[in-house]
Amino acid sequence: MERPGTLSAFERGERPLGPTRAELLRWDRELVWHAFTQMAEYEPFVIERAEGCELFDLDGQAYLDGVSSLWCNVHGHRHPRIDAAIIEQLGKVAHVTSLGMSNPTTIRLAQRLVELSPAGLEHVFFSDNGATAVEVALKMAFQYWRQCATPRPEKTKYLAFDSAYHGDTLGSVSVGGVARFHEVFRPLLFEVVRGPLPDSYRLPAGVAPVEAAQHYLGIVERLVREHQDELAAIVIEPLVQGAAGMVMHPPGFLRGVRELATRYNVLLIADEVAVGMGRTGRMFACEHEAVAPDLLCLAKGLTGGYLPLAATLATRRVWDAFLGDYASSRTFFHGHTYGGNPLGAAAALATLDLFTEERTLEGLPAKSARLAEHLARIAQWPQVGDVRQCGLIAGIELVRDRSGKIGYDWSERRGLRACHSAIRQGVWLRPLGNVVVIMPPLSISLEQLDRICRAAERGIQEATIA
Ligand SMILES: *Cc1c(COP(=O)(O)O)cnc(C)c1O
Repeated sequence: MERPGTLSAFERGERPLGPTRAELLRWDRELVWHAFTQMAEYEPFVIERAEGCELFDLDGQAYLDGVSSLWCNVHGHRHPRIDAAIIEQLGKVAHVTSLGMSNPTTIRLAQRLVELSPAGLEHVFFSDNGATAVEVALKMAFQYWRQCATPRPEKTKYLAFDSAYHGDTLGSVSVGGVARFHEVFRPLLFEVVRGPLPDSYRLPAGVAPVEAAQHYLGIVERLVREHQDELAAIVIEPLVQGAAGMVMHPPGFLRGVRELATRYNVLLIADEVAVGMGRTGRMFACEHEAVAPDLLCLAKGLTGGYLPLAATLATRRVWDAFLGDYASSRTFFHGHTYGGNPLGAAAALATLDLFTEERTLEGLPAKSARLAEHLARIAQWPQVGDVRQCGLIAGIELVRDRSGKIGYDWSERRGLRACHSAIRQGVWLRPLGNVVVIMPPLSISLEQLDRICRAAERGIQEATIA
């Protein structure tokens, strides 16, 4: 306690408690190496707190979270229910390893995921991010073919789609196909059988929209037939290829890929890291086409956007191939220190409870419809080549030439300019090249959604004037 007459720390010339605002901004620019960010030109943008769908920076300025804190927030920030679940778990234990041990919260989450996920997925391997969820699925598929009842050890390859994104570890990058991110690492990557980008906007010449799925499936079938003896699995982002620019697959494509995988005896890995957890209007995107994959990857929204936790779900067929006595070395020798972390599991359980308690999925059709209305209006701007939507995922593609569907050169950064304008209007957006993404938390209100779309529209106007 300070008595009258004594000097405060500040008056004695000592540092006040904690760094100053200026120090924070300088350290952020000079010390912190940000993901997917050119640090030579990074301008600090520091969020100190959040509430619901709003983020607040160091000056207390509010921004609507227009992309769910990079596609992961579900029920809003600081949701009392999720906050309480984490605090309750903290009162028990913060971490228990999953290597030969367990804890009740993680066990309960596994049970819930098995109950909710498409039929046949009965086992859950936990890790801590989307890339590892995919890495785990790739390695499980590989090892499966060496150990299944009729071993096929020559099945060591994957079919993955053009412009796919599955995370940034080397296995995930190998199956990925976004040239701008992945090309530099090419010498480190394993070879994959590359399928087409099943793009509904830029269809090949002579292919009508109604024939799109059949057209792309025809190409996939030729590849799978030709490589069936060496393919361990097909890896797919169901319905929407997120990082590719929210590219939407033609309806029926996922279903067709499932049928091909079954027919040619190849496993199907569904990477629902971005599209899972209600994002598309159903809990899992695979449900739209009644598809059950052999391996299902979840992360991003799994904890409501709170904590790093991921899950790879597997069928009994896959699981059984790993059973045996210890000396048989059929064990899945893979793990992450924090896989299945109980704090993350507590957040995930509360997130799933909220889907029921707040009837989250029931509320989505009205929000998707409102988003669609805005997109129909935005589509009329001359430099908007395409607007595409699936549930609460929207991509607005800016083009130099609308009739030729010719994009702006990426170095012009039109998408970024549109998003910077939105940020100045109090809406935080982050684009994918020339594609402006709108992907708010599922808890967004209609009024907030209106503000996000209006800000995006004005941003697009400003960014495409010249
Ligand atoms: C984000 C993403 C990943 C990677 O998840 P991280 O948690 O960032 O490693 C993998 N797949 C898809 C489809 C994604 O969108």
